[in-house]
Order: sequence, then structure tokens, then C-alpha cells
Amino acid sequence: MEKSLAFVSGTKTPSESFGSGPTDWITQGCETLKERINNLDERLEEISLPDHTTDQSAVEGGLIRSVFADVWDCEPLRAYLPATLGGEVDNAAHVIATLDTVAFHHLPLGLAVALQGALFIRPVSLFAEPSRATEVLSRFNEPTPFIGGMMMTEPQCGTDLFAAETAVEHTKGGYRIRGQKHWSGMTGHADCWLVFAKDEDASRRQRFSYYLAPVESSREGFEVQEYYRAHGLCPIPYGRTKLDVELPENAVMRGDGGYPSVVASILQGSRLTTAGIAHGFIRRILAEATAHTDARTVFGNPLSQLDQVASRLDRIRFAELVTRGMCEYTINEVGSLHNVSAASRGCSRIMKALGTDLMCDSATNLALLQGSIGFCERAMGFGALADSHPFRIFEGPNDMLYDQIGGDALRRNQDGSLGDILAERSFTPRTAGVGRLLDCKVEELSQRGRVLLGRALSFAEALRWIRDARSVTPAQLEFASEHVEVEVGQLALSLSMFGCGGVGATPQPD
Ligand SMILES: Cc1cc2nc3c(=O)[nH]c(=O)nc-3n(C[C@H](O)[C@H](O)[C@H](O)COP(=O)(O)OP(=O)(O)OC[C@H]3O[C@@H](n4cnc5c(N)ncnc54)[C@H](O)[C@@H]3O)c2cc1C
Repeated sequence: MEKSLAFVSGTKTPSESFGSGPTDWITQGCETLKERINNLDERLEEISLPDHTTDQSAVEGGLIRSVFADVWDCEPLRAYLPATLGGEVDNAAHVIATLDTVAFHHLPLGLAVALQGALFIRPVSLFAEPSRATEVLSRFNEPTPFIGGMMMTEPQCGTDLFAAETAVEHTKGGYRIRGQKHWSGMTGHADCWLVFAKDEDASRRQRFSYYLAPVESSREGFEVQEYYRAHGLCPIPYGRTKLDVELPENAVMRGDGGYPSVVASILQGSRLTTAGIAHGFIRRILAEATAHTDARTVFGNPLSQLDQVASRLDRIRFAELVTRGMCEYTINEVGSLHNVSAASRGCSRIMKALGTDLMCDSATNLALLQGSIGFCERAMGFGALADSHPFRIFEGPNDMLYDQIGGDALRRNQDGSLGDILAERSFTPRTAGVGRLLDCKVEELSQRGRVLLGRALSFAEALRWIRDARSVTPAQLEFASEHVEVEVGQLALSLSMFGCGGVGATPQPD
């Protein structure tokens, strides 16, 4: 077989290591955090974690609780708990370093930790009646795992959350809530649930609320009708649950701004932490892909020296850099991850959409680079793809988030060109070709056009974060800039061809 042309003797990839030295750049200067993260890292290295070969019966039997038990003394949820309960709420570095470390070892456990922290502990501490919050959150300090869960999605509605039909009825002592929920992480095994439900008798501002169910009711009032056999994320149990539960009056959780602000705050707080999960996961993908392609020989040379293989490795390195930039930005600039500011709403959307898209891209690249081995149940390749896929769907499908990012920019720039809009995010094209593509007006765009615009803006913003990141070297910045140029150029080309709802739109019958 001819091999001369396909192999490369070197690429423009910077020689510095990417994503090595786990979270050193996060924990630097804080010895307590470093020690805690190292302990967690070592524990996760030691224990055996479930994979795609694990039996469904173990998932339904509550394997997640034993996995939590294995790391419980490492306090993975400490960063979310209020100081009055021994926690370190508002320590963004602690949250990001924890998620990064856990997701490096096991993405499903990373999601489970994030779910506990961002979708249970944080909302309860922010919005629950204080005595109820303390009563429930103090359970996280007990020596055995306590598990919370969030029930929003219903079989007939997910993205369109306000079509929820789970209904609140006023009773003498409080409320009765009846309905059906599905895909709630920890189905059948949460000790306490947060339930999103509709109160027809409440004012418009309070029509929907979250309700904190009493701990005891998780056994009686919540009946699992079916466990789902999910494609990945083992051992998190999912399924469909029928609920009929009596709650006291102080179970309702309402913010000052009514339910839209509570929902927005919960989603925003959670999306901002995606950076940690995405970075840990991609860091692991990079380590696996590098090890495999260096060790495997094809036609007498390491696989990693094939130019197209090197290009896929570069894509993963780029993803690592983008998510590292996100982590540093979250830690240094976003400020509070607990009391999130309205100003960070836009960047939370970018982190969720771009961070999780890059997780899936990286998993696809690993699955391909591992060849047939990647298709084995025990290999990380295809399994990583299955595990990362749902991240693009939950907490707002990525297409919807890009649409919102693009739509916001269009509202701010009524008359601008694509180049003007990107310049708002400090993006200036490096090549004349891309410069020409950006020189077009984008006043009115169809949704598919706004999605493309939102994605281009997300890359531009991410480059800004990489530029400001202290752990990024000049060579890495140059490398990231080249990749962003390619991404923006491709998106701008697609935008010019499909964006305006003309070319590329589904033909309508005459
Ligand atoms: C692994 C996993 C874990 C989950 N964990 C939880 C949990 O803990 N608690 C909970 O309550 N729910 C959870 N969910 C449910 C999840 O939040 C919903 O699946 C999600 O909100 C999407 O809702 P849906 O499935 O009804 O899809 P739909 O709302 O029917 O949307 C389907 C698809 O249509 C497209 N789409 C929809 N709206 C738009 C739009 N405005 N613009 C562009 N495209 C759009 C997107 O491609 C979307 O993926 C989980 C789901 C999964 C898969």
C-alpha cells in the first residue's frame, strides 16, 4: 500500500500538552481545594464504575446510590451546600474543578453530581422556605448518600415546559399534586423531589411553580410506571412516574419575580456549570484518543501520524481549549454561580450549547479513531457518544439556544452586516476569504439562519474567553484562532446559502 502522501511529519499543532495536569490551573494557589480534588481524583481512579455492559436490573435496583456511597466521603456536593451547612457555596472554582474531575473519570456520575447540585441543592437553597431548605439540605451531610431529583418534563411536553399539565389542587393543609413526569434523573430512587406543576387558581405570575415534596412522600406518592432502558448514562435511572402527593403549604418555591425568573435562574445556574463537565469529559477523550493513535501502528507508522487522524486529534484539542476557556471564564469572570446575574444569561446559553456540541464532536472523533475497537461495549468510543448525546437535548435543546443567541444579536444590530455582529464579540477575520463572507447584511433571518448565526457568535465569544485564559499559551491561542476562523467561515458560507429561508427551505406545494 502506498503510504507516502497520507502521512505527515509534523502538524501546526502546538507542542504544549493539552488538558494534562488535570485541574492544576484551577486549583493553583488553593491548597485545600487541591487536596480535596486530588482525593476525589484518586478515589475515582480506584473504584470500579458502571459502564455500558452493566445490567439494567442493577440500574433499576438503585446502583446509583452505591456509586455515590463510594465517593460520598470525598464530599462531591460540598461546593453547592450553604456555608451554614459546612458547604462552600459560591466557590466557582470548587464547582468547576469537581465536575471536571468527576466527568473525566465517568460522565454519568459527573451528570449525577451536577443534577444534585444545580437542579436540586441550588434551587432548594435559593427558593425553598428557609426551614424546609435547612431540613432537606442538612440530609446531604449525613454519612450515607441522600439523593434529590428534579421533575419538569412530561410525556407530552419538554422544551415547551409551560404546556405542563401536572396540576396543583389547594387542600386544607396545603396542596395535592397529581400528574405524570418522565425522564427525571434518579427515577424511583430520589429521596426527595422537586416538582414543576401548574396551579390554575394562582395569578398569572405564579401559575407555575416548583414544589418541594416531603422526603417521606418519595416512596408513597411517586409511583414508577415504567423504567426506561436508556442508551447510555448508566447507572442514572430514568423512567415514567405517576404522582399523587399531598404537600404542606410551605412546600411551594416562589421567587420574587414569579415563575419565569425562577425557571430562568435554575436553568442559567445549571448551564453555567456545563463548562466543568464538558472540559473533564473532553480531556479524557483527548487522553484516550492520543494513547490509542500513538500506540496503534498502520502501514508501519503510528496512526497519529496520518494527516486526517492528526486533523481529528486537532479537533479534539480545539474542543479542549474552548472548554478550558469556558472554565476559566466561569471561574474568573462570571462571578456568582449561586446568585447568577442577568448579565450571564447569554454566556450560559453559549456554554451549554457549544460545550455540549463539542462533547459530542469529540466523542464522534474518538469513536472513529478507535476503529472497530470503539464499537466494543467496553470501549470508550461509541459509548462516549451515547453518553454525551442527551446533553444536547436537556436543559434547552442546543438548536433553540443558538436560535436565542442569534436572535438577541439581531435585535441589537438592526442594520449590521454579519461582520459587524461578530465584531461585537471581538471577532475580526484573519483571512480575506472569510472577510468577504462576513460582508453581507443579515436583517431578517429564518430560524435556521439564526441558529447558524448563534453558533458563529458562540465560537467568536469562546475565542474571546480563550484569549483571556491564563492557562492558554500564545501557540495554543494561535491554534484556536485558526480553528475558529474555519468554523466561522463555514457557518457564514452556510448562512449565505440557507439562512434567509429561501434557498434550502423545504419546497412548499404550489
Ligand atoms: C438523559 C436525559 C436526562 C434528562 N433529565 C431530566 C431531568 O432530570 N428532569 C427533567 O425534568 N427532565 C429531564 N430530561 C428531559 C429533557 O429535559 C427533555 O427531553 C428536553 O427538555 C426536551 O424535551 P422533549 O424530549 O419533550 O423534546 P421536544 O420538546 O419534543 O423537542 C424535540 C426536539 O425538537 C427540537 N426543538 C424543540 N423546540 C425547539 C425550538 N424552540 N427551536 C429549535 N428546535 C427545537 C430539538 O431538536 C429537540 O431536541 C432528561 C432527558 C434526557 C434524554
